[in-house]
Amino acid sequence: RQQVPELAQRAVHHVDAVGKHLLVHLEQWVVRVHLGMHGAWHHYAAHETWKRPQWQASVELYFAAQTFVCFNAQDVELLRPVQLRPSTIGHLGPDLLSPHCDMQQVMRRALAKPAATPLIDLLLDQHVSAGLGNVYKNEILFIHRHHPLTPRQALDTPALQALFVTGQRLMQQNLGGWRRTTTYDRRTGSLGPKVERLYVYGHRDCPVCTTRLCGEILGRHRRKTYWCPSCQPMPDETAC
Ligand SMILES: [Zn+2]
Repeated sequence: RQQVPELAQRAVHHVDAVGKHLLVHLEQWVVRVHLGMHGAWHHYAAHETWKRPQWQASVELYFAAQTFVCFNAQDVELLRPVQLRPSTIGHLGPDLLSPHCDMQQVMRRALAKPAATPLIDLLLDQHVSAGLGNVYKNEILFIHRHHPLTPRQALDTPALQALFVTGQRLMQQNLGGWRRTTTYDRRTGSLGPKVERLYVYGHRDCPVCTTRLCGEILGRHRRKTYWCPSCQPMPDETAC
């Protein structure tokens, strides 16, 4: 634990989300926080009791009447604004949730990856596009009926772009703070508890053909991957 006297009395100018990084811009300093798998920001009134123990706190920002605490961040870094560009941030792909997201840039980055790159690696690669996580990866590939290990070169450019456009749409329609839903647009209202929120992630059977889903740790990122062997066959292959 350490206090950072450089940040005392400094005003927060603005806060940016770039992919999975949160950038807190203060005068002459930027705090970069990557939440990783287990990180979470909490917002408390000045004397409110925290819901997690202080030893789990990675960043504590104290203001006159409120406190922002980030617990269990994967990565925290104090930077000068000029350092942002050459850091990891500068290499991140376009943020799919940004109103200025450049889909052509996403495609240039995707097509610059080796032709044999599996689609799961491409979707999770934050240097191609920033923001997609493992649940979305699985859901996108089911929606488009691609086997997770399909090589990038098996798709033409419009088909490849469609994956990122779907990811962008799913992320946009889940900004409301509810449990992540891919099977319908939650913004238009709840369809009731009987409707599954996700197509395949964490499920046993295919929602379309009821075939038992495959579930394996796959890809460069070693993340759990679900797919239907009959709806999402590998080109020239049907086994899990
Ligand atoms: Zn199926």
